[in-house]
Amino acid sequence: MRKVYEGDIVAVEDFSLDIEDGEFITVVGPSGSGKSTLLRMLAGLEEISGGKISIGDRMVNDVPAQDRNVAMVFQNYALYPHMTVRKNMSYGLKLTSDLSSEEITDRVEEAAEMMGIEDQLDKKPAGLSGGQQQRVATGRAIVREPEVFLMDEPLSNLDAKLRAHMRTELQRIQDDLETTTVYVTHDQEEALTMSDRVVILDGGNLQQVGTPKEVFNRPANLFVADFIGSPSMNFFDVELQGSTLTGEALSYEVSPETRERINERASSDTLVLGVRPEHIHFTERDSADAISAQLDVHEPVGDDNYFYLRSNGVEFTMRVMGDYHYDEGDEISVTFDEAKMHIFDRASGNNVMVDTGRVDEQTREPTAQRT
Ligand code: ADP
Repeated sequence: MRKVYEGDIVAVEDFSLDIEDGEFITVVGPSGSGKSTLLRMLAGLEEISGGKISIGDRMVNDVPAQDRNVAMVFQNYALYPHMTVRKNMSYGLKLTSDLSSEEITDRVEEAAEMMGIEDQLDKKPAGLSGGQQQRVATGRAIVREPEVFLMDEPLSNLDAKLRAHMRTELQRIQDDLETTTVYVTHDQEEALTMSDRVVILDGGNLQQVGTPKEVFNRPANLFVADFIGSPSMNFFDVELQGSTLTGEALSYEVSPETRERINERASSDTLVLGVRPEHIHFTERDSADAISAQLDVHEPVGDDNYFYLRSNGVEFTMRVMGDYHYDEGDEISVTFDEAKMHIFDRASGNNVMVDTGRVDEQTREPTAQRT
């Protein structure tokens, strides 16, 4: 499907994905990448400009939002301030279902218990903390027993500690209920920790779909490599000369297999070599692949240390576990294993070491929800 707003603004470009029944999908990307638009199209709050959306076996293109059997949780919880928690949670059900009031009460109490807010049912939202309001908003979605949860940055108004806690809580609930969930966030860490699969968008274009491990270990292109992981992957401009990757900062001889692969897959010898900070390690000064670098800044972060290094004017970051006592200004020798390096075609941005191309795992079994 796609979405073009008035004025020819393409918010989502030909997007296609099969989501399995019960899957937890996160959609991640920078601001303006089309995440909310995508979610709003699934919800039926935004008309689609082309394509089709199915939930289960039902094509829902022309089905209005209230009949799609989806429940949304937003970042601003959108609770009714004048209603009690109980009323906030039951109101939608009263309007849209023909459940008896006993059945509604049962569902509300069950969801409240699940969210740990059973003692707050008679309070009004203003009397609740941010975390509790978030729980009410989630509880309100749960009572509807929808086929799909759609969540738009539901935790972004919470402080870091509570956010981490609520992440685990939402995962637990989703595990218990096994409700298919599409969760939008700009936070790559949230995406990596919460979901079965991550969908990465940039400028309305799908960049990669894969498990958190896949998108982290086998990023399809430079965008994904840069976006996923913190601190970010280091990138070095290099050229392939014979079997050596040569750049300002380094000279690295690759195996014959890697060389062959680059020759096969890259459009030219102009490449970008990517290495994550945690994959750089110390080495002997005289080893062939040693990068000699100056330690500009040493930043201890709990058990970790970030070393901000510079080699021949090129800056990069190394992540070192445990205690290391180097002084700023020291020269150190570092390297990395070939197995941990990523090689991108500079012109296209594609990772030449990854087979699956732009989108992983598009050949899954037919599934409950198609978008
Ligand atoms: P995200 O959720 O990733 O921040 P959005 O889906 O909100 O991205 O926006 C995607 C693109 O569509 C942006 O360029 C945005 O400016 C544009 N856009 C979003 N909503 C509208 C709208 N109602 N009218 C016109 N353009 C919009």
